[in-house]
Amino acid sequence: MKALVTGGAGFIGSQLVEALLSRGDEVMALDDLSIGKEANIRHCLGSGGCEFVRGSILDEDLVRRLASGCSIVYHLAAVVGVHYVVADPLKGMQVNLRGTENVLAAAFASGARLVLASTSEVYGKSFQIPFVEDGDRVLGSTKVGRWSYSTSKALDEHLAFAYASLGLRMSIVRYFNAYGPRLDPRGYGSVVARFISQALAGEPLTVHGDGNQTRCFTYVEDSVKGTILAGTVAGAEGEQFNLGSARETSIADLARMIVDLTGSRSRLEFVPYARAYGERFEDPQRRVPSVQKAKEILGFEASVPLEQGLRRTVQWMRETETRRSQG
Ligand code: UDP
Repeated sequence: MKALVTGGAGFIGSQLVEALLSRGDEVMALDDLSIGKEANIRHCLGSGGCEFVRGSILDEDLVRRLASGCSIVYHLAAVVGVHYVVADPLKGMQVNLRGTENVLAAAFASGARLVLASTSEVYGKSFQIPFVEDGDRVLGSTKVGRWSYSTSKALDEHLAFAYASLGLRMSIVRYFNAYGPRLDPRGYGSVVARFISQALAGEPLTVHGDGNQTRCFTYVEDSVKGTILAGTVAGAEGEQFNLGSARETSIADLARMIVDLTGSRSRLEFVPYARAYGERFEDPQRRVPSVQKAKEILGFEASVPLEQGLRRTVQWMRETETRRSQG
């Protein structure tokens, strides 16, 4: 199989590239390096099976050229993470909407199968726990910048279904709080990376609100495994899947676990949402996937326990920090 991975130098994308190469697939990784890093896939290049192209999914001709000749496109390139989206909602929407339409059109034109990386954010602040793939989406006002991310990703899903009705063979995966090595160590994109870097630096762990909000943290290796299943299992076509762990953890408990695992002396500092994100911010109180559909159709279950995944992530962040301090 020859695969195009958009966002191939990113946190999940680069680990997907590695997993595809180890299956024996040929891989073309496209990334504009706005968030991703070439260092994430440098070790994959030069073996003959992997090529890296620096470019944007907004470049329609480039995307079309790269997709032609590929049997599958994994579309992960996007502006992701609440912080990034709140900081620049216009860019988020342009990349996530125009860029995705370019990728879908290119996959359709080339006859490739496609996996669209979507997000648990599409469920918004729904209270129908656990979130079932066909359940309702509940969003707040359009004045709340955060919901532009949910909306743009949901529109991506609508676009994918529209192309599917024309014949595109596609599947959608919704990631639930993926974490692991290669998260941005500055912690901009994820609470896990942020807390670990704070704990390693001996700084307070900044828990937003009362810390009772929950997430189901999913180790990146599991997210990658589910993504490949969505691109290869025959019954997955035309369907969307939650890819998440069934274990629900509060943010305050996550902070305590990270303090324990790192042996840090850091304390927890409770920070009002308004101070962290400005006024007009809303945060889902609970986010829990229904794991049934992915289990039944893909045979997927997240299997890496949180403690183990956090331990591996802490180790990676320690090594990264050591390399950085040695210049
Ligand atoms: N969070 C926090 N402290 C931080 C960063 C994030 O308490 O320094 C909280 C955030 O408000 C949310 C949860 O952690 O309730 C998960 O945030 P993240 O940005 O990782 O992902 P989200 O689930 O919001 O997409």
